[in-house]
Amino acid sequence: MSARRRLVVLGATGTVGRQTLELIRDFPDLWEVVGISAHSNQAALKELAQAHPEAQSWLTSQDVQREALLPFLQEGNYDVCLHAMVGAAGLPFSEAVLRAGKTLALANKESLVLGGAWLCQLAREHHAEILPVDSEHSAIHQCLHARTPADIRTLYLTASGGALRDLSPDEQKKATPTQVLNHPNWDMGPRITVDSATMMNKVFEIIEAHHLFETPASQIQVLVHRQSIIHSMVEFQDGSILAQMGPPDMKFPIHYALFGPHRQPSPLQGFSPELFQNLTLEPARLSQYPALALAQQALDAGPAGGAVLNAADEIAVEAFLAGQIPFHHIVSLCETTLQAIPSLPGENLALILAADAWARDFAQQACATPPL
Ligand code: MG
Repeated sequence: MSARRRLVVLGATGTVGRQTLELIRDFPDLWEVVGISAHSNQAALKELAQAHPEAQSWLTSQDVQREALLPFLQEGNYDVCLHAMVGAAGLPFSEAVLRAGKTLALANKESLVLGGAWLCQLAREHHAEILPVDSEHSAIHQCLHARTPADIRTLYLTASGGALRDLSPDEQKKATPTQVLNHPNWDMGPRITVDSATMMNKVFEIIEAHHLFETPASQIQVLVHRQSIIHSMVEFQDGSILAQMGPPDMKFPIHYALFGPHRQPSPLQGFSPELFQNLTLEPARLSQYPALALAQQALDAGPAGGAVLNAADEIAVEAFLAGQIPFHHIVSLCETTLQAIPSLPGENLALILAADAWARDFAQQACATPPL
């Protein structure tokens, strides 16, 4: 790489955004930050803007600034956009980056859950690239290097099992928000931590993997791997398996999204005997995690199925954290919403957002009228 590559970081004040900026600080000859955005943390954004005086900055909770960010992304005066915004609001920004034909390093999982088929099509049309930043998908992407979907027999997504992994289904029913928010391995936001305990996070990751790696959900299996060292694995048609491993630290997938497939030397520490001893893998049982049935159901529900499921889950998680519904109702509310809403089109942003709004309304009403 001769010239410096120009980077935009969306969601720069969040965990992934901050780690990205920290990581490239070691490579000033290779990367230049040309844009940063934050949702509402004005003070933190100001601080980052001072550290990167060459970068434009946007506070996307303010309409005018959000509206200015979209044309900037479309004009494409950058090489890579690391997209770490949170939630469905990230979707139009993914669209803008792909339409500009740029590289989208994607940590905003809602983009693929809501509009995976549409965005992957846009990427093909505009010769843009989607690089996964999610640890599991980064692992699979690395294992698949230079191989095609026809080579894949099975994708194994690993899951920590979440905070309730040692409780029986009956004990889970009484789980409190405090219990659920105590994740054993990863330090993440509240929604994804709850999604980790219900396994809804893995449901969304199956949908993402289906789109990213052109693999049917029936060929994607979830394994409970308590240590979060094996980030995912691919079994090829010849029966051979490749796994990607490393400490549970988001800097690894961010680093690969920025530099891969080149193995850029980094200060990150890989193997340690303490972390790598006693690695275990067990099938994720449907009796323990009923959510796992929903990935196939969402994909069967057509192009907006992911949007419907995501909206229902977001409402259900909020209701659980507010003490309005018990833990096990999160998954049943998602299933009820998916079944109640007929197959909807999802071939553009407006259709996807309409499905999202419909599902949100339905789920909100269902939360307000117990029992489910
Ligand atoms: Mg993940």
